Amino acid sequence: MTSSLLFGTEVRNPFQLPARGHRGGDDDSSDSDDDGTGATGRKLEWFSLQKEHIADFPQVSAMGCDICGPANNFPDAIEITPVKKKRTYRLLLPHQGLFRCSETGIQFRVTTQVLICFTLDSWDKYMDEILENRSEMAIAGPLFNIKMKQNTGEVSAVYLPHYVCLKAGNIDSSEFKICHIKDDNMILETPTSVDSFHVALKYPSFSLMGVILKFVRNVSEMFHIKIPTHACVFLYRRSKTFHLYIMPRDPSIKQAVHAKEQMNGFQWIDKPPQTKTVYTQLKYIVEPPPEGKVKPESLMLQYNDNSQLYPYSEIYLMKMTSNIQLKVTSKEDKTVVWESELREDDLQEHQIKQKPVSDKEDFIRKNYAALSKRMGLLNPILLDLIVAKVITEHEEEEISRHRLSLVKNRALLDMIIKKNAVRELYDALKRNDPHLVNSLEE
Ligand SMILES: [Zn+2]
Repeated sequence: MTSSLLFGTEVRNPFQLPARGHRGGDDDSSDSDDDGTGATGRKLEWFSLQKEHIADFPQVSAMGCDICGPANNFPDAIEITPVKKKRTYRLLLPHQGLFRCSETGIQFRVTTQVLICFTLDSWDKYMDEILENRSEMAIAGPLFNIKMKQNTGEVSAVYLPHYVCLKAGNIDSSEFKICHIKDDNMILETPTSVDSFHVALKYPSFSLMGVILKFVRNVSEMFHIKIPTHACVFLYRRSKTFHLYIMPRDPSIKQAVHAKEQMNGFQWIDKPPQTKTVYTQLKYIVEPPPEGKVKPESLMLQYNDNSQLYPYSEIYLMKMTSNIQLKVTSKEDKTVVWESELREDDLQEHQIKQKPVSDKEDFIRKNYAALSKRMGLLNPILLDLIVAKVITEHEEEEISRHRLSLVKNRALLDMIIKKNAVRELYDALKRNDPHLVNSLEE
């Protein structure tokens, strides 16, 4: 399919789209047929109760930049935590306003309630066409496959995240385009506006879409453009071996790397991932700590590598000490772009976070009495359990019918234990009421 993609030219003025507030068309059929069942007012209230949860790994959308400023440059944006099922993100936007997905950073301005589902796709499948034009094109953000549930409302603007450090100066905002991929065609559209972290398009029609750069420069200059990038460093550990990644803030690469590392028994270490501005085409040196070895010592930022094979440095520690200094430095000008100190606590804390399944089961059973009394935000927990198909809507109604929260909580706990689904309840609790879980685990 990739070979048959055709490049279109810029198609239209985004202000003159034929269908204002176009509905994304089909319902999301693949693995997303269950949206928590219809956008009823009651469900919308549930979503508005959702709190930002503690992620299993860093939410790159929350990171700002020394040069461009804080990531939250839309003070009116309301952060919404998506409900995830397999690879599909669901955002139920309860009323008119601007909403930002807490995990991916994508924003939607809506005029009414809207239910949006999206997945993160990989640019890999479409790289042939982009590579053919690599002297004049570069990927600049994640690729989204967005769909709206029919009859749920209108999107008046979408704000696609990008990771180019615009204020560093090498890139002009006129070089940003929105790339649509639809029916084997690749079409570039001029955005309505570009800011430090997003590229906006008013009254969008949804398809596979993401941000790219299209350079209009003389040929020799185009081959040597160093794109300043909002990047992050992720660190994984298994015993005395560490994997260090430096990558653009692209949640799709992050997810693929995270899944691969976890599958291989490596655990993510929660250290501040934010880097100073990092440039493509430059080498960055991972400095070995005194008690360790690093291979390879030099890494380059990749924008569109196969995520599973994303390059990393392996750090091997000959002996574990209490304070391990890690540093990433620009080879060209010796600027330190990231540094961190690993302390014993970091490793200890991490082990607690990654609880084995049996511990989750023990947690619910051991804390039955405390949970009966203290579970407060039941609605988002119930919604998570419906989406995970642990309980049905009818069962949720049965639980909600009780007037006293103690009775409601007991009804839920008893039902979950009977269904042998305590792990799912633990995960839903951790997502929606992390403070309660943490306090009971202390
Ligand atoms: Zn920046």
